Amino acid sequence: MSYLKPDQPEYNHLRHLVLLYGAAGRPWTKEELKYYVAHLDSDGRPDDWFYDSFLFINTKFKSGADCVADVNLGKSMSGEGDFFAMCSPNPSDKDDWEELLDFYLGKGGALQTLDDTVGEMSAGIGSAVCKRNVVLTLPYPHITQEAFGAIDGSGHNLNFSIKGQSLSPATDSRLKAETWFMEEVVRRWSERRYKNLNLLGMYWIFETVYRSWEVDDHILLKELRKVINSKGLKFLWIPFYATYNFHLLESYQDYYFDAAFLQPNFLFYKEGKTIEMASAVAKKCGAGLEMEYYMDLNEPISIKNERHIRFREYLNAGVKYGYMNGSACAHFQGAGSLERMYNHKDPVEREFYEDIYHFVNGTYQVKTYPPPPPRCIFVPGSRAAVAIDLGGTNLRMGVVDNSGKVLHWSQVETPPDKQLILHSVVAKVQEGLRFCKANGLTPVGVGVSTGGRVDFEKGEVVDSTSLIPGWKNVEIRNAIESGVDISVVVDNDGNCSAVAERVFGKAKCVDNFISIALGTGIGGGIYVDGKLLRGQNNFTAEIGHVSVNSDGPLCSCGNRGCVELYASGSGLVRWARDEFPLLSDLAARDSLSAKEIGDMARSGDRVAIDLLKKAGEKLGIAVAGFVNIFNPSMIVISGSLLGLGAPYFDAFESTVRSRAIKPTADALRIEFSDLRNEAGILGAAATAFGDSMAGPLRVKAVKPKQDGETDD
Ligand code: ADP
Ligand code: MG
Ligand code: ZN
Repeated sequence: MSYLKPDQPEYNHLRHLVLLYGAAGRPWTKEELKYYVAHLDSDGRPDDWFYDSFLFINTKFKSGADCVADVNLGKSMSGEGDFFAMCSPNPSDKDDWEELLDFYLGKGGALQTLDDTVGEMSAGIGSAVCKRNVVLTLPYPHITQEAFGAIDGSGHNLNFSIKGQSLSPATDSRLKAETWFMEEVVRRWSERRYKNLNLLGMYWIFETVYRSWEVDDHILLKELRKVINSKGLKFLWIPFYATYNFHLLESYQDYYFDAAFLQPNFLFYKEGKTIEMASAVAKKCGAGLEMEYYMDLNEPISIKNERHIRFREYLNAGVKYGYMNGSACAHFQGAGSLERMYNHKDPVEREFYEDIYHFVNGTYQVKTYPPPPPRCIFVPGSRAAVAIDLGGTNLRMGVVDNSGKVLHWSQVETPPDKQLILHSVVAKVQEGLRFCKANGLTPVGVGVSTGGRVDFEKGEVVDSTSLIPGWKNVEIRNAIESGVDISVVVDNDGNCSAVAERVFGKAKCVDNFISIALGTGIGGGIYVDGKLLRGQNNFTAEIGHVSVNSDGPLCSCGNRGCVELYASGSGLVRWARDEFPLLSDLAARDSLSAKEIGDMARSGDRVAIDLLKKAGEKLGIAVAGFVNIFNPSMIVISGSLLGLGAPYFDAFESTVRSRAIKPTADALRIEFSDLRNEAGILGAAATAFGDSMAGPLRVKAVKPKQDGETDD
């Protein structure tokens, strides 16, 4: 087999189809559409055509009812099995569908605006254009819709569900509604007489094909395709890349669709499949490939900081695996991305605008990545913070810009005494400032995240446990400020991790949450009603020093049996040595670390697994108490101990759930940070930026995003 062939006459020469996400009740404007229609020169004048085909997608109606069928419920973010059918509690009805017909085909509707835009651009470009293809999305007929409305004079209200009937008439009603919608599209289209457009076909939004005792999309799609083809139109599909879909793709043209484009999903998930694999599957199945790009850092994707590198791979792979010129392609970009790329100050974003244009043109040439050396990727004059993260094991430094991008990063082991630590901290700050200077960045401040009790007002560490040796009465702010002309803020590492989650991470829109940082020790930070809890002295959320064993060993904080003595990186090693003598010979070695215990558990060591389960349970006991007191909607866990894996975290979660008061536990989500070892750095940077941070720092209570809405 080969890819879905581009440039076929029966597809009116379809090559590159761009997805245009519309928002309910927000008509497209010529100003927005021109970026998709024409390539603009540096003065904003059209000098060539851009996409040849346009797919309009709306996911919601004005009423709030759903147009789409599936929703990403995934927690794993693995890309495999993250999508499920959603039985919408809010199914659309005939009035909604009429609204969509008007949105597409009404006076001043999307197609009218597109037609006018193409007309205006051709005046500028000065060459005739082959009619641009248009593909329209069919609304999904939800099986929760029991009274869609009547589509003929009979007054018979269509029922899509199996309530009061069997599956066959339910499916028949769904087909009738889709057929009615199709016929309306064709009727209105022929009345409108657009000059520059060709109606290529219809798009099916659900990304898999479902069949069960209450839904039969298999029959529906087979029959619907006949209806669509009978009007001289094509039926298009863009399925997600999961092994579940492969068998459907293999024979899709025999049953359901005329043209399919496979989504690699490579841009959204840390783990998963490569573009090489996706293009091989597409090629094997006679499908096209979908290009994917999100510009906004605020999008809930797990590869945020890698998106430039990953998108470069979509472009390069188009040459390497031949889909740039050998396949029809679909282009997903998130709303307004192309326009923002064109207008962007960051040369990397701006360059992608031209690269996409060359790709669509078939003239893109492979570029190397990781992209250009660091100095080229900064917006000149950008502001940056120098951030320090000091823990019991590692001292880290990062230079972070005001969008949360870590531009520079270095890490050393935490030195063994106060003077040496202080010396290293100052040296690292100077290294960060030198980096700013060399790269034309304006430093706005220094943020320090440190273990121990911190006097936030004075910028001093008051004391800490033995995990950071001698780390008491340290005037860090003074020490740093005496050497450089820049302001310094200091906060406890638990607080900083919480700030990072709130600003950049899993708790972005969450007002009540507990953040737990699991490293050498256990730190915490608590948000109550949208504010970081500081208490009288900023000594809040010392989760690590909650006792889970009244007769346990003495902790350097003065208490006995603190959970940190069992469940932290240092505690696991201590516990393994003192109370788990069976932990094979490793326990006797000087070098035993939490990481090794995790590795042993992964390789099946029963004692290590047992130790981790018991440790997770201890942490769960402590945290259940916090849950009862603060009633958070989320616990987010960060720190290197995330690498311990299932034995520890499953025991933690089940203990919290079984020991916290039931309705409180039911309202709770437990999430794992995706900020990796950057949480402390990002939190320190955000604290240094304070209110002056642009973009993501403007934390607001965000309602679920409407399609087509963007973050800026
Ligand atoms: P700090 O306490 O310096 O802030 P980290 O968050 O880096 O440090 O945590 C250090 C602890 O995490 C050490 O106890 C180390 O053994 C443990 N650790 C590091 N990597 C892993 C891993 N992949 N799995 C489990 N534990 C790990
Ligand atoms: Mg730490
Ligand atoms: Zn303690």
